[in-house]
Amino acid sequence: MRQLIAGNWKMHGLSDQLPEIELMAACVASRPLHADVLLCVPATLISRAVQVAAGRLPMGGEDCHAEASGSFTGDVSAEMLKDAGATTVIVGHSERRRLHQETDAVVAAKALAGFRAGLSIIVCIGETQEQRSNGRALTSCASQLAGSLFSAPSKPAVTAIAYEPLWAIGSGHPPSSEQVTEMHQHIRSCLMTQFGGFGSAIRILYGGSVTSDNAAEILSIPEVGGLLIGGASLKADKFDAILGLT
Ligand code: PGA
Repeated sequence: MRQLIAGNWKMHGLSDQLPEIELMAACVASRPLHADVLLCVPATLISRAVQVAAGRLPMGGEDCHAEASGSFTGDVSAEMLKDAGATTVIVGHSERRRLHQETDAVVAAKALAGFRAGLSIIVCIGETQEQRSNGRALTSCASQLAGSLFSAPSKPAVTAIAYEPLWAIGSGHPPSSEQVTEMHQHIRSCLMTQFGGFGSAIRILYGGSVTSDNAAEILSIPEVGGLLIGGASLKADKFDAILGLT
């Protein structure tokens, strides 16, 4: 399966960053890539980012509401993301789970909303430092997976899982290759149990403190289906350096 290199801008980016997106798109188009690529940006930027990317770099949203429309002031639906030109939505990022008290059930409903809108869906999971220290990393991720995924009528309402240990996000300390391998194998076996054959087609991304210094090693792990990159996706040169490693 082709790997996916996805950026996650989080709450960064005003219109003065559009030239950076244009530059990224130009980098993507400048040579044949051995991976799929995606940039998830704030909802306010999506439609203009789609314009400057001009078909060279797909855009995604970072979250969505579970409903298609309604009295939900300030929220953005999956249909709205799609309408703005997004191809994909991230749901269940640990910052949403932690800072907005999003439960597995809420994440599952959002994933289903993405499916309904015809978007690709990246569902994030990951253990805390405490869970890892207590030997509960595998079980806590398995339980988040089981609770955060729905099987839509014909297929699973998810196209990629992003394994992002909370202690690795923005910390400069990614897990060891052994820890990534163990967790990704575990996630794959959970997906196969839950979805049968469909489970083998779901990419499993790694995210948390990925840089151009460590990306090659992480991407070389056979179980790793790609990367979800925060800080290192904000600048075209850094993001492109990672793309060049695929
Ligand atoms: P980071 O963030 O690459 O800045 O650690 C990753 C993420 O939260 O998706």
